[in-house]
Amino acid sequence: MRTAVVLFTRDLRLHDNPALAAACANAERVVPLFVFDPVLAGRSPNRDRFLHQCVADLRALLRDRDSDLVVRQGDPVAETIRLAGEVGAEGVAAAADVSAYARRRERRLLAEGERHELSVRFFPGLTIVDPGVLKPGGGDHYRVFSPYHRAWLAAKWREPVALPKKVPLPSGVAVGRLPAEPAGESPDAARGGETEARQRLRGWIGEVEHYDDGHNDLAGDRTSRLSPYLRFGALSPLEVAHAALGKPAHDPFVRQLCWRDFYYQVAYAFPEIGRKAYRRGATEGWQDDDAGFRRWAEGRTGVPIVDAGMHQLRREGWMHNRARLVTASYLTKDLGIDWRRGQNEFYRWLIDGDLPNNSGNWQWVAGTGNDTRPYRKFNPERQRERYDPDGSYVERYA
Ligand code: FAD
Repeated sequence: MRTAVVLFTRDLRLHDNPALAAACANAERVVPLFVFDPVLAGRSPNRDRFLHQCVADLRALLRDRDSDLVVRQGDPVAETIRLAGEVGAEGVAAAADVSAYARRRERRLLAEGERHELSVRFFPGLTIVDPGVLKPGGGDHYRVFSPYHRAWLAAKWREPVALPKKVPLPSGVAVGRLPAEPAGESPDAARGGETEARQRLRGWIGEVEHYDDGHNDLAGDRTSRLSPYLRFGALSPLEVAHAALGKPAHDPFVRQLCWRDFYYQVAYAFPEIGRKAYRRGATEGWQDDDAGFRRWAEGRTGVPIVDAGMHQLRREGWMHNRARLVTASYLTKDLGIDWRRGQNEFYRWLIDGDLPNNSGNWQWVAGTGNDTRPYRKFNPERQRERYDPDGSYVERYA
């Protein structure tokens, strides 16, 4: 093939990027493209900023390799077809995704590609094992984590692909200006980009053997904090798993990466995951308590560990997993407020906010999802005694 366009979506990295690697291997010239889609913007100022930082970093990394990133705004399908026409491309490569919106975009791109005699191909890389690949006997996806985890560990994973030596951009392509970086809402949010992501992975991975002991220590903050980079594909989950597999006592951490894949295959099979109860027969009778909801969202419940979690969310655009469990349980099981309201509040602030993981976990906690013990409830006081015994977390986020 003479020329291929690589449409980046949320695979904003050069390392282990199968779509980019395939285009570089099969085409003489490669045109990397990112399209800011107005339909997806504005849901979370924090994520808009993080995304912008990822795109800016990707452009800088490509420029370091004598290439560039074409940046456009508008409908990704229309912009991709337009650019393919401008540069005389014969093919388009992109990463496959799971959400209903992304899958519609993929179908439209395939149809438009056919109309314009372009070969359009989608590649893996969003998860470690592709959603839809592992199926239990008699079902289209796994509904319970433990059997999925066993099948996932036994599955054949793809090999990570090599970093392309060159991304040969044809001359004369109008690359476009990057829009101004949006203002986020959280002052202490992590910075986006593959460069930052790789630094963080290198810095943290040596700690993986202490993950089992430390990952629930709220004040110790001993989890990887890689979730936003995985969310935007600034890191490949497969590469993170491989980095961990080389270290002692890595199992509990790799298991968490499996949770991520688990929820992706659930969302793939059940695209309404953000709107409807997943578990058949789940009873839902929620309280209409606007004042209670606002107190929860603003961290004014008077329950120290709940308020600290919600303050961390607003300050950092991120919250420790243990605090996510406790705050979500408090909203749904103590206040009896609809999980969808909590999910939407998290979705506004989280830089790792992601439909399969956010909705999947909210439903798990609310008892409408994949938890095999749907009536479990996290007692905030006992959780504080256990996971923040000296009160440092509560004090930090008072
Ligand atoms: P680590 O503990 O270092 O784990 C490594 C990676 O494993 C994470 O980066 C993440 O990709 C994955 N992972 C860990 N725990 C889970 C889990 N329970 N479910 C799925 N994947 C997991 N995670 C998101 O990425 N996006 C969300 O929008 C999101 N919303 C959540 C909402 C609620 C109510 C709850 C209880 C959890 C939610 N999680 C979400 C899962 C989890 O809290 C975060 O992934 C984790 O806190 C991220 O921190 P880390 O990168 O330090 O995780």
